[in-house]
Amino acid sequence: MSQHLTSPPELRKRQILALRAFYNESEARLEEWKQSGFQYPPPASRPFPEICKGMKCGAKTRKGHPCKNDGTSFPSGRCKFHGGASTGPLTLEGKKNSSKNGGTKNTNPK
Ligand SMILES: [Zn+2]
Repeated sequence: MSQHLTSPPELRKRQILALRAFYNESEARLEEWKQSGFQYPPPASRPFPEICKGMKCGAKTRKGHPCKNDGTSFPSGRCKFHGGASTGPLTLEGKKNSSKNGGTKNTNPK
């Protein structure tokens, strides 16, 4: 198998950066729209980055081949099967919330 299914690493890096920026801005626009009480018309969506078109997931599958699924579903550039585990709560508020779950009497002071 000599054909490259995934982009070369340098291109891949730039694609993921563009994808992350795209998702971040889309989220920011949604948040802005939410703050305005979902006023009509909704904000125009940012065009999908040209560089990311046709991006493949490329994760190593159990058979050892690169995954051929669409890699634009997540900011990580992976597909729905290879998006990766959650990195956990990031904000202090989220950490406090998550600490309410699954703790024992000793680790969860009231
Ligand atoms: Zn995949």
